[in-house]
Amino acid sequence: MKCHFTIFRFNPDKDKAPHYQEFTVNAEPTDKILDCLNTIRAEQDPTLGYRASCAHGICGSDAVVINGHVGLACQKLVRDFKSANNFVIEPLPLFNIIKDLIVDMDPFFEKHRAVHPYLISDDDAPETERLQDPENQKVIEPALRCILCASCTSMCPISRANPDYLGPAALLRSFRYIYDDRDTATGSRLAQMDSEDGVWGCKTMWWCTDVCPKGIPVTKCLGQIKRAIKQNKK
Ligand code: SF4
Repeated sequence: MKCHFTIFRFNPDKDKAPHYQEFTVNAEPTDKILDCLNTIRAEQDPTLGYRASCAHGICGSDAVVINGHVGLACQKLVRDFKSANNFVIEPLPLFNIIKDLIVDMDPFFEKHRAVHPYLISDDDAPETERLQDPENQKVIEPALRCILCASCTSMCPISRANPDYLGPAALLRSFRYIYDDRDTATGSRLAQMDSEDGVWGCKTMWWCTDVCPKGIPVTKCLGQIKRAIKQNKK
């Protein structure tokens, strides 16, 4: 069937302002939105800019806004939308535009790095790997599913209002290590979380949870960090 795409375009090197461009492609209901973008770029406009890599919801690089909702272009099918013939594709909000649907993710990854996203341990290094208790693994398992697609942070109203707020994805990564029994930096991690730029910036609006393509209960995990901070002060 014929599908009409209205796609956000902006090349800062050439364009004075963003604009939208119309495309029509033949697509099956089971085609991914990413398939349609690939068809447009291959057959109609090789200058269309968007990110994609694995095309299977693992790399997290193709998050865009589709008909007003954030989603992975490789995870959403044509048939997933009520108006399956008409699509408006826009870049993630919050971030600066590099070109068309490609946004500048540097600020996102700077915040991710700021929470020290790796295991810190004062314990002596074991001869082999640091084994994890299976029960403890269950606690942090939701956060392990994060693919750093930035959908949550892009939609977070607090991230929009406070540029210094770490944002749900970075806070979730901190949760992953705060609750990992093998990590011994819990005190400093909780201290970093204990501010309005940290976890207290979260006003429990659930938007991050609603948009997460991996079904991670982001808001709930941030609530667990808040409880850990309170417990730590007792
Ligand atoms: S928590 Fe979900 S929405 Fe946020 S970056 Fe991770 S996978 Fe993407």
